[in-house]
Amino acid sequence: MNPENLVRNLLAWFAANARDLPWRETHDPYAIWVSEIMLQQTQVKTVVPYWKRWMRALPNVRALAKARPEKLHKLWEGLGYYTRVRNMHKAAQAIVERHNGEFPNRFEDILELPGIGRYTAGAVSSIAFDQPRPILDGNVIRVLTRLFGIAGNPRESKTNAKLWRLAQELVQQAATLQTHAPRPTLRAPHSPPPLPHPVSAFNQSLMELGALVCTPRQPRCAVCPVNKSCRARREKRVEQLPNLSRRPQPTQRRVAAFVVQHAGRFLVRQRPADVVNAHLWEFPNTELTPHRTDLKSAARDALGFSPQTIQPLCSIRHSITRYRITLEVFRVALNPARLPSRPRGSWLDESSLRRLPFASAHKRILSSVLRR
Ligand code: SF4
Repeated sequence: MNPENLVRNLLAWFAANARDLPWRETHDPYAIWVSEIMLQQTQVKTVVPYWKRWMRALPNVRALAKARPEKLHKLWEGLGYYTRVRNMHKAAQAIVERHNGEFPNRFEDILELPGIGRYTAGAVSSIAFDQPRPILDGNVIRVLTRLFGIAGNPRESKTNAKLWRLAQELVQQAATLQTHAPRPTLRAPHSPPPLPHPVSAFNQSLMELGALVCTPRQPRCAVCPVNKSCRARREKRVEQLPNLSRRPQPTQRRVAAFVVQHAGRFLVRQRPADVVNAHLWEFPNTELTPHRTDLKSAARDALGFSPQTIQPLCSIRHSITRYRITLEVFRVALNPARLPSRPRGSWLDESSLRRLPFASAHKRILSSVLRR
């Protein structure tokens, strides 16, 4: 396979087929970094409105560095994996301290920032600064293992190192096509999108091909711009690649959540630090297990008092990492003559609740009870 032809075919395909995404209209490294972090574990169509809202609220590194954590959590609410946003906050503060608020353009400096690994540093370096740095995410792994017929498990170090080497060789090849046309920082209104330079466009073309054509199931090989060079296709091994070991079976869990309302206020609590969804808000809840099915005692544990009545409200299914969680939601009535002196949480009114960041499943409960 001729690497130059491969790169040229991908670049031509990308120029004609790239999706019109808002972060592709800028070369601002901050904006590109925000998009890359949001896109981890999250689909493009979900990220677009979040990214636009974030860029309006926090248009640069300094604004992010000095933002209050509650504001960041609110902007991130619903995207999940909240460690990402806390690391972004720390990274922005580090950029202000170490680089006077200017996003660094050296790969090594980017890599040193909290929450930034080799992939993200490579993406920002190549997309924002046209530096020939490789990227390797799930989409790129799928494209490269199929194109080059790589049978090893990409999670194993030897195969992983081989894939990084290949990605490096290809982006280096793209750099030889580099032109020196001046690049706008931001697109002027009504002007056509800027033409990305080959390094930036090449890395994005690999990701885009994996997202649109070389998909996990039923890849569209017939319209693939590099199908003539594809070893997996030639050897009829497309369905077998990439050779990822099976993930462990998901674990089912049942959790009971309790909605208590008194004098126009709801009882809610903030999750502690160092747990999943740390610092976010939620309705009092507790896990139900085969040994613990009694709802009254579960409610007492979660609320800090005994409820008068418990009525089913709704059921919400959601996932956190490998857990498939069924959240059974109950409306709880208090005995007005015996108001709890020490409830486990805070009584908050509707307008306070709307301002707070909630864990996704609990946000759905909140929307449901505030609608009623
Ligand atoms: Fe993927 Fe098929 Fe293209 Fe090969 S020919 S890179 S398997 S879409």
